[in-house]
Amino acid sequence: MPLETVLTDSINNATPLTATATILVCDDDPTVRLLARECLESDSMKVLEAKNGEEALALFAQCQPDLIFLDVDMPRLNGFAVCKAIRQTEKGQTVPILIATGANGNRSIDQGFEAGATQYKTKPINWALLSRDVKYMLRAAEAFAALKAQQVQLRTLAYYDPLTSLPNRRSFVDQLTQSLNEAAGHQRPLGLLMVDLDHFKRIHDPLGEALSDSLLKVVAAGLQERLGALAPRGPDPHEAINRSELGSMTIDLMRPGGDEFNIIVRNMKDSQTLTQIASLVLETLNAPLTFRDNHLVLSASVGIAIAPEHGLEAEAIIRRANIALSAAKLSGRNRYRFYDDTLADDAERKLRLEADLRDALESPDQLFMVYQPQIDTASGLISGVEALVRWSHPELGPISPALFAPLAEGSGLISQLGDWIFKRVDTDIQSLKESLPSYLTISINLSPLQFTQANFLETLKVRLSELQSNNAIELELTEGVIMSDADDSLLKLHELRKAGFRLAIDDFGTGYSSLSYLKDFPVNTLKIDQAFVANLGNDSGNSIVRAILALAEALDLDVVAEGVETQEQAHFLTRHHCKILQGFLLAKPIPLQEVVEILDVDFSHMYRMAET
Ligand code: C2E
Ligand code: MG
Ligand code: MG
Repeated sequence: MPLETVLTDSINNATPLTATATILVCDDDPTVRLLARECLESDSMKVLEAKNGEEALALFAQCQPDLIFLDVDMPRLNGFAVCKAIRQTEKGQTVPILIATGANGNRSIDQGFEAGATQYKTKPINWALLSRDVKYMLRAAEAFAALKAQQVQLRTLAYYDPLTSLPNRRSFVDQLTQSLNEAAGHQRPLGLLMVDLDHFKRIHDPLGEALSDSLLKVVAAGLQERLGALAPRGPDPHEAINRSELGSMTIDLMRPGGDEFNIIVRNMKDSQTLTQIASLVLETLNAPLTFRDNHLVLSASVGIAIAPEHGLEAEAIIRRANIALSAAKLSGRNRYRFYDDTLADDAERKLRLEADLRDALESPDQLFMVYQPQIDTASGLISGVEALVRWSHPELGPISPALFAPLAEGSGLISQLGDWIFKRVDTDIQSLKESLPSYLTISINLSPLQFTQANFLETLKVRLSELQSNNAIELELTEGVIMSDADDSLLKLHELRKAGFRLAIDDFGTGYSSLSYLKDFPVNTLKIDQAFVANLGNDSGNSIVRAILALAEALDLDVVAEGVETQEQAHFLTRHHCKILQGFLLAKPIPLQEVVEILDVDFSHMYRMAET
């Protein structure tokens, strides 16, 4: 609503307030009080009388009148002092005050306005007009209140995120800039934490827009509650306050957009405080959450930068917190990282490595495949292999695919790498064709991005038809990828099965599988994530693995346990009917030729319990 409309509407429409308004009349002259009462009451207003300043203050505090008629010239506490005192109270900031000054009072009118008066009348009062003037003042006050409310609303729209009611990106930049200026003045460090929910898309897509929004609201409220218990929020820079008095720690949570949250920490003691806050954020998000019948575990990556150590300007602090955030994501998510200069170097190194990977794809021997045997616990023999890519960098030596596969995704090299892997596996198979038994399953990992590419199915079908192999080819997909768009995945998985591939869910247990989907997915195998195998030996670790094994049995799926490193793990898994074992205990990834050489080896002594 335009401002003029608010004003005229409010003045034109006789509001209930003017009819029932309570007016406090303060004058030491009883005649003035009497006449004022007569005039105002005849217009349906209620009148309270005070015969001096002290009484006026007491009545004001007690009765909250809607307007005050105040004589200036009173013994002891004069009208100016009363006016000032009222303005200093919280409720007294907006109440209209009409002062009555002596006739020759230009100076006294000025003084009245300085003390906070709204309007003045000179004595002798024209009683015929008093009631009308009072009404006008009341309506103007109402209009002013309406305007103020509207201003607050506009400010809320401009600076707050409507979903979570947290300050938005605009407010974040303002607050950071202002806080940095203050921090510089006080020489106190300031911390910025940038929080990004891990793989939120995987949760967002199956939930849909509306439910994801409600989830973000729940997350925001949870974070706000925990952070609020540590320290109060700082002042809103869009409200006038006395900033010089602010000295203790404040924590402000904001939502610049999407699944990101920012936290500004002012007046902290040292950077240890930021470690505590970051840990608290991760802990809060990691707590299992039941949301509309979905059991979710969220996690986030957090990047931290500190002023003045990492810069003085908002732009520098934001950039560095962002670099730290990327580093936290790259080193495996669900963690926090402080900015340091080596991280900026890392970003540069990453770019160089991308260029090197491009070269490696063209060069004959920097990339190669190794095959890790998988042991069938029933026979003790190798029943399959997982093909794993290796990069031997000319200067840096071996680089893990866990590191360069995401790099290939980020730089658009992933289809090329995927093609290269299929071709190389084919070459390896062809070169050993005579000695490869047909029962040997060969597993190939697919990168998450590959699976979501538009031409993915066509390319793979061509690849399979080119593979002149008698061996079953099993494609490994991670759980998160399949779940990110479960309906679309279902179609693709069916197509892949039709094309003749077997399918495995890799790293099972780490993602967000909804069991209702799992039973519909046409997969053959679940691969229990290494982390769960590593965690065997304690009650909770054991029960998770037992639950996955029971689930696989119920759904009639094969199970491969990955990362089996100890005999105890192998014993446990075999005892609970895990069909296939894979891990360093049994065999490391080796060239396919070497796999062929150990096809007759019986591995069962490694996992069978000694008879005691
Ligand atoms: P993954 O598919 O879960 O592969 C299993 C990883 O565990 C392999 O690491 C393997 O060497 C390692 N591993 C096997 N046994 C043990 C054990 O007993 N203990 C421990 N600690 N580790 C064990 P690798 O080869 O470094 O691969 C890491 C990840 O990189 C793979 O995880 C996969 O996601 C990706 N990757 C590997 N090769 C390829 C590939 O050819 N294509 C694609 N797209 N991704 C690949
Ligand atoms: Mg795998
Ligand atoms: Mg795995």
